[in-house]
Amino acid sequence: MQDQYERKIEYVRISLTDRCNLRCRYCMPELGVEKMRHEDILTFTEILRIVQGMAALGVKKVRLTGGEPLVRRDIAELIFALRQIPGIEQVALTTNGVLLSELGEDLMRAGLTGLNISLDTLRAETFTEITRRPLFTQVQAGAAKMLSLGMENIKFNCVPIYEVNDGEIPALAALAKAYPVKVRFIELMPIGCAYASGYRGVLMADVQRRLEKAYGRLRPVRNKQDALQGPAEYYRLAGFAGQVGFIDAMEHKFCADCNRVRLTAEGFLKLCLNQKNGLDLRALLRQGISDDNLKLALRQAIFRKPAEHLFKDSQNTARDSRAMYQVGG
Ligand code: SAM
Ligand code: SF4
Repeated sequence: MQDQYERKIEYVRISLTDRCNLRCRYCMPELGVEKMRHEDILTFTEILRIVQGMAALGVKKVRLTGGEPLVRRDIAELIFALRQIPGIEQVALTTNGVLLSELGEDLMRAGLTGLNISLDTLRAETFTEITRRPLFTQVQAGAAKMLSLGMENIKFNCVPIYEVNDGEIPALAALAKAYPVKVRFIELMPIGCAYASGYRGVLMADVQRRLEKAYGRLRPVRNKQDALQGPAEYYRLAGFAGQVGFIDAMEHKFCADCNRVRLTAEGFLKLCLNQKNGLDLRALLRQGISDDNLKLALRQAIFRKPAEHLFKDSQNTARDSRAMYQVGG
């Protein structure tokens, strides 16, 4: 379906939990977060009903995220059930990778179609510094396992930060030299613990400059083959098996083409990453709304999707500064 700005909404990101087995400094406080009560979180049955309603309105792609989605029990069963919904063409996952070694086969069997692994560093000490957990070898093993299982459409997501991992930008990009994967660099966004961490995100222009110095000219990938691919702009480098991508959040280059809505773990339909407006779907479901009325409510809410994010408008009361783990990053 289209929103009021004639953007086609085809993609929903679903946060399965706000819990996580890491504590990335720019995302979560050291002591973690007050846990949501179990009964406050959407059940798989509720999630499936919402996605059925959305699929009837034209949503084709689901991404499961969090918090860390792999800490939610039986996630492979949810993926399998989502794949059965008519109209849903892609079911993807964004994970920190810690549990991929354990769950990789189940995820493949369930029919996962895309996998984003967050990877800010290739050095164990830097990983522990950023995530406050000494689990780099697990992530490394998890990523290697998914490649060896033949998982297609793997993307590595990296948030480059000055004086933390910026020296590794060429080495991280080199994953796309060795493997047919995408390595995406994402600008640190002013939400969650980003300010408290004291981290300074590297601007995308600087990332690009460093890559061109290391590998030669970045050649843009023209003709977006896949309308569902998201806000990154992709480039090729000579001799690379895969591609590199950039998400330039602060200049909100992606809002005009935004095709997504978000569902939080407690069932709130968010229409924009950093705005508060949306719809409490959990309340509607638990009050016994019919399928037809659910579709109507979804249609009306999605139509009102805001024009653009408010990252640069810190005084605006519509702004939602909650962290990525709370809003389904
Ligand atoms: N736990 C999973 C993971 O880390 O991939 C999924 C959820 S996590 C919130 C999704 C992505 O959000 C991660 O790639 C993380 O680096 C990114 N993220 C979190 N806070 C951010 C911020 N302030 N700016 C930019 N990216 C952020
Ligand atoms: Fe957890 Fe992902 Fe946030 Fe890191 S970025 S603390 S892995 S939710």
